[in-house]
Amino acid sequence: MVRAGFVGWRGMVGSVLIGRMKEEEDFVGFESSFFSTSQVGQKGPIIDGEEKCLEDAYDIDKLSKLDIIITCQGGSYTEEVYTKLRKYGWNGYWIDAASTLRMEDDAIIVLDPVNRDVIDRGLSSGVKNYIGSNCTVSLMLMAISGLFKNNLIEWLTSMTYQAASGAGAKNMRELVEQMARVGKDSGSYLKDPNGAILALDRQVTSTINDESFPISNFGAPLACSVIPWIDKPMENGQSKEEWKGFAETNKIIQTEQPVPVDGLCVRIGTMRCHSQALTIKLNSDVPVDEITDIIAESNQWTTIVPNTKEESIKKLSPAAVSGTLTVPVGRIRKLNMGPEYLTAFTVGDQLLWGAAEPIRRIFRIILGHLEDI
Ligand code: NAP
Repeated sequence: MVRAGFVGWRGMVGSVLIGRMKEEEDFVGFESSFFSTSQVGQKGPIIDGEEKCLEDAYDIDKLSKLDIIITCQGGSYTEEVYTKLRKYGWNGYWIDAASTLRMEDDAIIVLDPVNRDVIDRGLSSGVKNYIGSNCTVSLMLMAISGLFKNNLIEWLTSMTYQAASGAGAKNMRELVEQMARVGKDSGSYLKDPNGAILALDRQVTSTINDESFPISNFGAPLACSVIPWIDKPMENGQSKEEWKGFAETNKIIQTEQPVPVDGLCVRIGTMRCHSQALTIKLNSDVPVDEITDIIAESNQWTTIVPNTKEESIKKLSPAAVSGTLTVPVGRIRKLNMGPEYLTAFTVGDQLLWGAAEPIRRIFRIILGHLEDI
């Protein structure tokens, strides 16, 4: 029987992964073991009524006995363990949520509703490393992969509205702490519905700029503000998050001619849903209803939201999408710049399609592949 080991299963992405695997009754047809970098010997998750004991995530010999390793532990773990394991002679499948190996030649970035063909070719040709994509890239491709598949995009720019969860669990807590502090400090101004609005505004501005305001994780206020920089700087002025847009999109879809993708990535005060405003230069003047049909057929999770105020505010928001696998696309219309300029807005849960779901699905695909050979 195939032996699969899970590392990083209790982190944010890992726990969403295990939750989804339980929901989908995925824990069949293989032997599972669970590893930790800090809780060796302690109790792990309960799978089918059995409590698993945690093994040492740095034990190369033990890891080398596995056929598949699924890690949501993070980049430093991958850096520390992956090469040692391969040097030790391990030839199993490495599935990883971290970015460390994404751009390596012997790795495939996985998003099977979009690049199942690339994955299948990789499996047949013996590729052993399958890495989850950047969340923003995954969600953009889940939304409009039909346009890429039909070769309709000359270039694309994405202006993002990214959730706190992309920065980690501590950041999610910090956002809510910031919001709670704003609420607490302004409480007295809200009691009088006729109170002076500028007094309330002054209080909020004073709160978020106060030196005691909790910003140790974000480095700046996010509640009642935005942060127009995500990840480290690149030499060309992009942030690393923006750099990934072009690099990862084109590695996932593997078209002959790379499609230019660029934009600005901005952190906003949502919990776990990223949103993106897309501007797309089409290769030709395709009518909006045709475009809409093509987007709708991208995959079974993409839904179209009609371009009306009522539908957009009801269905095209983090509030509506959080915790679901649905990827709505709306505000689809041509821009004033000309008939080849299209805009659209899309939202997706970045812990599901942006992180855990492609990992869950590639694991099932690899299990199926191992059964077939
Ligand atoms: P995380 O929540 O920080 O968890 C990583 C590890 O931290 C856990 O597996 C656990 O390892 C340890 N840990 C220490 N204290 C913990 C606590 N109180 N609760 C839970 N775990 C604790 O990391 P993550 O956000 O899931 O990210 C994992 C990887 O996925 C990263 O490479 C990240 O870049 C990538 N990724 C993240 C997202 C996202 O939205 N967050 C999206 C796509 C990809 P031990 O059990 O060994 O102590």
